[in-house]
Amino acid sequence: MDGSIELLQPVLHYGGHFLVPFLIAAVIWRDSWKRAGVVMVAANLIDLDHLLADPIFDPGRCSVGFHLLHGWEAALVYGLMLIIPRWWVRAFGLGALWHLCVDAGDCFAMTAL
Ligand SMILES: [Zn+2]
Repeated sequence: MDGSIELLQPVLHYGGHFLVPFLIAAVIWRDSWKRAGVVMVAANLIDLDHLLADPIFDPGRCSVGFHLLHGWEAALVYGLMLIIPRWWVRAFGLGALWHLCVDAGDCFAMTAL
């Protein structure tokens, strides 16, 4: 792994989990981007499924497809949340799907770099 990538990766990871949701919310929910952004960031709570795993955190492990709330069944549920006509349900579903994208990016970085 190249040194600069090693430094960049956590920035991308935490930026992806905590800053980008607000950018997405700003594009979709313009006027109420703050509350929508907060709900999208709250979707990061799906990481609580790590508590069910042993060890709880393993830097070399790919979350996607391993943890309960990071599997395709869960992704299907998040996708279905998008068709429910409630802004906060949609924001949560979208936030969770985005979370999976960020985690998948980590897995990609892990294997490809
Ligand atoms: Zn995760």
